[in-house]
Amino acid sequence: MKERSEVLREEPADTEGMSEPVLIEVRELDKSFGAVHALDRVSLDIRAGEVHALIGENGSGKSTLIKIIAGALAPDRGEIRISGKSFNRLAPIDAIRHGIQVIFQDFSLFPNLSVAENVALNSELSKGSILVDWREVRKVAVNAVRELNVDLDLDALVEDLPVADRQLTAICRALLQDARLIIMDEPTTALSRREVDALYSVVDRLTSRGVAILFVSHRLDEVCRMADRISVLRNGQKVGEATAGGFDQATLARLMTGRRLDRSGRGGSSENASDGPALLTVAGLGRAGRYRDISFEMRTGEILGLTGRLGSGQTALALGLFGLLPYDLGRVSVDGKGVRIRNVGDALRLGIGYVPEDRLTEGLFPGHSAGVNLGVTLLERLANFLGWSDREALGRQTVRWAEAVGIPAAVTGRPVRSLSGGNQQRVVLARWLAVSPRILLLNNPTAGVDVGSKYDLHRMIREEARRGTGVLLISDDLPELLDNCDRILMMRNGRIVEELQGRLDEHQLYEHVTGDP
Ligand code: ADP
Ligand code: MG
Repeated sequence: MKERSEVLREEPADTEGMSEPVLIEVRELDKSFGAVHALDRVSLDIRAGEVHALIGENGSGKSTLIKIIAGALAPDRGEIRISGKSFNRLAPIDAIRHGIQVIFQDFSLFPNLSVAENVALNSELSKGSILVDWREVRKVAVNAVRELNVDLDLDALVEDLPVADRQLTAICRALLQDARLIIMDEPTTALSRREVDALYSVVDRLTSRGVAILFVSHRLDEVCRMADRISVLRNGQKVGEATAGGFDQATLARLMTGRRLDRSGRGGSSENASDGPALLTVAGLGRAGRYRDISFEMRTGEILGLTGRLGSGQTALALGLFGLLPYDLGRVSVDGKGVRIRNVGDALRLGIGYVPEDRLTEGLFPGHSAGVNLGVTLLERLANFLGWSDREALGRQTVRWAEAVGIPAAVTGRPVRSLSGGNQQRVVLARWLAVSPRILLLNNPTAGVDVGSKYDLHRMIREEARRGTGVLLISDDLPELLDNCDRILMMRNGRIVEELQGRLDEHQLYEHVTGDP
């Protein structure tokens, strides 16, 4: 019997039910750092052409596992099998030789070389010649960029590029090193919606060439959309694995956290929000080419959902109410009094706050500390409008809020750029909560944050509503809407086409959003 099992181990890995061969397989990996058991007998396989998502809360062992697969870290026990060979540990050079490439979060690029040079340099250098053939460099880079069908300026300096383009540069470079498995640690955290879509299509192109992707993400909606298979880690153990469609987001969240994040259900904001006085009334609002005939009422203490397909006008409407992209038709009243919102100053004076979708470019000053971000100009202006003249008091107030929203004291001095998505969003929200707005417009407030932070943010939003703030929650995260909103407005092609309330499940809501049954 013993012999037989040893023979079996020599055979190619089992590919039952799946046509693609296994690229790499790890068995029973174990790794401790002192008393911390970072990985506890974790096994995993990755097949050619698949997108494999690795999820888990902070500290669950994701980075440790990635480092072992990339050869950057040796496991204490266990086995790594690639192309029929078995290793106790992988040297980085072996990993590269076997086509494993990691896109690190800082992308490991040379900031003052051009894109072309960054893309092609490693493969040129590895040819062993001392002189770099720059014409060859360019040709190689052009081919890589063409193959991925991406729009990259080859002559731009990497340091001048937006994050998304740096990432594409790193991916092109990986491809040139004959990558068969590309590992990405939270690839979409710093990207805007459009950049995320571009990355998805690059991933599609990579997998259709048989390249496998192993990626770490906090966004369960993204994981469910993008991954062929999902592995869940908790406290260093693998607690689940599923093929696409095998898990819903709630199950994944429960597996990751080991607890049920209780859904407080609709009306979590305030039991009698629907009877409260009208706080914001919008009648016949329109802006040419963006939205029209928008009418709704938001009550004191209400969390009003707003959703629809991307580009249906939700963001433009929010920007209109915040005075950033003024409406050109219609009427707005606050507390039953007609008001005009022609610019941000008007909005601030009315106590309207806006948390943008793209917090890194619109909402925060990424190179500045969380502390500075908590007290920036917009807030000071709002404070002025609300009659706060004492800057020091404001400072104390923001620190109090930073604590209240759970920003660890240790990170308040660090640049916001270096904070996790969850903490960044806490900063944005804290900034507004500190001045007690009357109306908060939230645009996808939990996009890109980890499950734990998401839970906290929802709790804070509901508490804020309970204090009487009216919240307009724009989101395409359907469970988020169902859990937090009293009513949900649905937009399509710039108009509100439906108002939903009462008991709905996610599937029904999805049908309403997409118009597809
Ligand atoms: P994740 O990437 O899922 O957040 P990690 O793999 O980074 O988790 O960490 C898993 C656990 O191992 C954590 O408790 C972490 O503090 C610990 N850990 C990771 N790397 C080290 C290290 N070099 N030294 C000590 N502890 C570490
Ligand atoms: Mg990590």
